[in-house]
Amino acid sequence: MIDVHTHAFPERLMNAIYAWFRRDGWKIPYDGKQTEELFAEHRKQGMERFFVLLYAHKPGMARSLNDWLADLATVHPEVVPIGCVHQDDDVSAETEYCLGELGFAGMKLHCAVQRVSMDDPRLDPLYEKLIAFNKPLIVHAGTAPRDYTGTVGVRFFARTMDRFPELRVQVAHFGLYETESFVRLAEQLPNVVFDTAAITPETLNHWPGPMGWPPAEQWVEWIERLPGRVLFGSDIPFLNGQADVKAWVEGLPLSQQVKQEILDTNARRFWNLTDPPRS
Ligand SMILES: [Zn+2]
Repeated sequence: MIDVHTHAFPERLMNAIYAWFRRDGWKIPYDGKQTEELFAEHRKQGMERFFVLLYAHKPGMARSLNDWLADLATVHPEVVPIGCVHQDDDVSAETEYCLGELGFAGMKLHCAVQRVSMDDPRLDPLYEKLIAFNKPLIVHAGTAPRDYTGTVGVRFFARTMDRFPELRVQVAHFGLYETESFVRLAEQLPNVVFDTAAITPETLNHWPGPMGWPPAEQWVEWIERLPGRVLFGSDIPFLNGQADVKAWVEGLPLSQQVKQEILDTNARRFWNLTDPPRS
């Protein structure tokens, strides 16, 4: 199995993020756990590879985060490193540094935490570099868990993809809460995939979202409209565990083959993963 959406941060920042979730009233089962414990948990759950996604809350912090992740990935060959950049950094230089010098697999953009909409012109160099390197973007562009910044939503994604249709994108959290609109756009954009990060009835019921928990048939319909384009992700350590999301996928009325694709092969194909060297 491959988990295309997990997080790890240096200890102090990680604790600050845990504290934010706690204050915001979330149940965080991994509260307090640091990088090595989290990686041990991924291995225990049977993850052969796991993506570690960074994001930069403020300008000037991306470089040290990216260097931290690069060091971690050297020690842990199962880690697929995904870099970060803030819109007020030198976006072009930092993206080039991540994708070139550090050899990262792609970049993450968190439109809510970074308080930036996807179509903000400061992000153009991010998309241009990703296209030049033929590497994907992972984006939190959806309105879940709630739109508190005014910078998320499918309209920003649509405008960006109009300008950069060749951009390869992994849309986090299946585009919630505008999944239907995201799926409709993705039907015309073969380079767009979705991850299942944080998707379980429990997390969605916790989010005071407008759509509630869609029935299994609705999820199946979306998945069938996107053959090969749904990738297993958990969002550990902030919400549920890998086992919860896996149980949800396995409980859907889909063929065993489609489930296997979601849990493993779709990620290998989209991300061109090779087996990690034995450490
Ligand atoms: Zn996440």
